[in-house]
Amino acid sequence: MIKEKNPNFKGLWVKYSDYEIVKVNNEFYIKPTKKAEYSSYDVFDYEKEILVDFLYIGREVNNYEFGNSDIQCDLMSTEEKYQNLVLDFVKKYGLLGDLTYPLVNSDIVNSGEVFVEQNHKMIKYDVNEYVKPFFADNKDIQNIDFAKGVNEEISEYIYNDNPNGQPYTQIDRNKDYDLVFSREYSEKIARILLYAKLMYSVFSSAEQSLWTENEDKKAIYQMHARDFASNNVTASLFFDNNDNGKIYLDWNFNSLKQAIELIFAFNESNDRKEVKICKHCGKPFIAKNLNAEYDTASCRNVANVYKNRAKNRK
Ligand SMILES: [Zn+2]
Repeated sequence: MIKEKNPNFKGLWVKYSDYEIVKVNNEFYIKPTKKAEYSSYDVFDYEKEILVDFLYIGREVNNYEFGNSDIQCDLMSTEEKYQNLVLDFVKKYGLLGDLTYPLVNSDIVNSGEVFVEQNHKMIKYDVNEYVKPFFADNKDIQNIDFAKGVNEEISEYIYNDNPNGQPYTQIDRNKDYDLVFSREYSEKIARILLYAKLMYSVFSSAEQSLWTENEDKKAIYQMHARDFASNNVTASLFFDNNDNGKIYLDWNFNSLKQAIELIFAFNESNDRKEVKICKHCGKPFIAKNLNAEYDTASCRNVANVYKNRAKNRK
């Protein structure tokens, strides 16, 4: 329904057939396996599923038994339960694209400079300092000097056999995406958990601002939800000539992370909202009808029991 009320979206992203967790200097990363094969898919074919699956990770992080402050995400990233949550998500939808997400300039390896937007400020990085943490597991890449532009090693380890620019993946973007779609590219589990937690807390605030009858609480929830702002978004029109020239909004999102943010914003602002939070257990779910408030019959029953008890006490 999100799709029906909005333009026809199209947006391709890359995923590999398999991923693994690797440990480098006592930190855990996720990356494609050596023999995994890449493919591309349209993120908007799975928009609700992506949103629910990602928010579910955030809900689990939020409910961590030893507290949910940001630093706990480091601890959670060492636990199999949280590693598997991230692994399941990434196997379905690919990595988040944290490398390209905050970039302000493009073709960073050739230009030798990296400008990123962080907390509404522009920060300049050395290209080695910026790129190498995303390839933590590969010693050959750690030894490359990225500041001198493209060289043979970059071509061999990163540009060779890369989904970007392959006719059958239909993805042809600038060279920064060769980095993000590389088989050697990895993301830190703790950072993914932290980001999922942030998205869930915005989601939960936005939803609770609708339920609460307390005006002060409503203002606080709304203030928190307004903290959410997506990075620079670009889009163009795409005409599908196989479908009588039907017009799509071809949204060149810079990362899966940015795609999740926009899908989320459309969901929250839609009167016919489909991804909701269960009023009883807090799990995100895809609502089959507009009035659904609980993800399962058992949550609805338990909530009704509480409601009736409260009524009887009055
Ligand atoms: Zn529930």
